[in-house]
Amino acid sequence: METIWTKDYRDFNLPMVNEDIEIPILIIGGGIAGLMCAYNLMKINKKFILIDAQKLARGVSAYSTAQVSIAHDNLYDEIKNKHKTKIALEYYESQLEGLQIIKDIIKEEKISCDYQEESTIIHAKEDKNLITIINQYNLLKRYGNINLIKSKSKTFKYKLALEFPNQFIFNPVKYMNCIIDILIEHKCELYENSRVTKIKKISNRYEVMINDDYYIYPDKIIMACHYPIKNPDNLYFAKIYQSKSYAVSFKTKLKIDANYVCLDEPYFYIRKYDKETLIIGGCDHFTGISTKNKNYYELLIKKIYELDKNAIIGYKWFTQDCMPIDSLPYVGYYSYSNPNIILVTGFQKWGFTNSHIAAKNVVNILNDSPDNYLFKTHRWTLLRDLKSTLRMIIHSVNGLIISKLNVSKHDLNNIKIGSGKVMKYKGINSLVYRESENEFIILKNKCTHMGCSLIWNDIDKVWESKCHGSIFDKYGKVIYGPATKDLEKVD
Ligand SMILES: Cc1cc2nc3c(=O)[nH]c(=O)nc-3n(C[C@H](O)[C@H](O)[C@H](O)COP(=O)(O)OP(=O)(O)OC[C@H]3O[C@@H](n4cnc5c(N)ncnc54)[C@H](O)[C@@H]3O)c2cc1C
Repeated sequence: METIWTKDYRDFNLPMVNEDIEIPILIIGGGIAGLMCAYNLMKINKKFILIDAQKLARGVSAYSTAQVSIAHDNLYDEIKNKHKTKIALEYYESQLEGLQIIKDIIKEEKISCDYQEESTIIHAKEDKNLITIINQYNLLKRYGNINLIKSKSKTFKYKLALEFPNQFIFNPVKYMNCIIDILIEHKCELYENSRVTKIKKISNRYEVMINDDYYIYPDKIIMACHYPIKNPDNLYFAKIYQSKSYAVSFKTKLKIDANYVCLDEPYFYIRKYDKETLIIGGCDHFTGISTKNKNYYELLIKKIYELDKNAIIGYKWFTQDCMPIDSLPYVGYYSYSNPNIILVTGFQKWGFTNSHIAAKNVVNILNDSPDNYLFKTHRWTLLRDLKSTLRMIIHSVNGLIISKLNVSKHDLNNIKIGSGKVMKYKGINSLVYRESENEFIILKNKCTHMGCSLIWNDIDKVWESKCHGSIFDKYGKVIYGPATKDLEKVD
């Protein structure tokens, strides 16, 4: 799937793991989180290797809309409600620090990544969202760096908004490419096309299987592969869900003076790309739900035409992010039984500030220095938000049991070419994709993560797991984890 950033992809010609390797530290994942951990470890001369299942800098980070901002929607209010004021303020302070760290790196390393400083403006018209804006203003005004404003924009008619000055937008792929260049220059060992397929603990170290072929033996693992893949340890599958969202770029004569985030339904945000191109994103929803009657790209395009009826639509893409149900990221020891795995995840659509602060914490953890306890993995999560916990249970019961009971037989000829259907085939619960008149791809309806059933998404042409958000292409190949293996074929 192409995005506005695809043209900036670079091929670094990095090797694949093709022998067994012993190493003190293994970083899994070459998105923004893994790369920043690598950069920080390089700075303190720690020996590590970094591996990725695909090319580096091609995960969720390369599909984001790349506003580097502390204006995290309604998150501060949400954290205050789920935890307490002190925690919401500490989260804000951590984001201020994350923002500063990334600005400093861009300056010090002279990274050319289309950096442009701007305000982010969170706005709304609906009463409940106006209350959130006022609550967040009251919570954060003590820092003196935000403004409560009445409608100042001609483009967006809102009643009230919260302005966060001095945020920035950039090109995430160019930024990550430069970090990779720096790592290569410092002779760091980086591997691509090397998917972790199994992690086994052997006394005090790990045996990590790569592509079902080779083994890496690290003493410590930094798991920065987006969704945690060691299962079912510490119940992350019940504490984190994946939320999909969509982005569309468009050419327009419209000029915007800031990044705008609208809290009203459908949720959307908008940023500049260049002088004549803007990017709109939003329409977030739980991955794996039926989107039969909703084309989210169309919803965003409708919004674009409301802003400019002469706009020319460019790229359309989707990606998804990890959402901890108690609204705080996870950075810390994986579990009591796996203290030598450090997990970095749960950035809830705000990965750039969070990944930079996370990478700093990872170094503190490795050095046994105090780390940010806010993101600790051993916290009471499930009881913080009973509604979300209940929703996770319902999704799991549905994905693991209920949806498997109602699968009926269908005539293969009733499937449209280029479309997929869940059905009984030769008595097996199957996923059938019709490639052409006589060609069908038939896979088992069983996610390789935890066995949940899947659903066909006819807009993005992918199979989505109903429980934990793994996404597979029409041939059953993993696009997004936690699944580490492709879907099985029906013989
Ligand atoms: C539509 C959208 C827009 C967003 N916009 C913004 C924004 O404007 N600003 C912002 O701050 N944040 C934004 N985010 C959030 C941000 O993009 C993410 O939080 C962040 O990119 C996550 O980074 P990551 O390194 O954890 O994951 P990734 O970038 O996905 O990196 C993980 C890497 O791990 C690899 N991997 C996975 N499994 C394995 C395995 N088994 N073995 C080996 N490697 C593996 C993957 O191939 C991948 O390269 C947005 C998110 C979405 C969904």
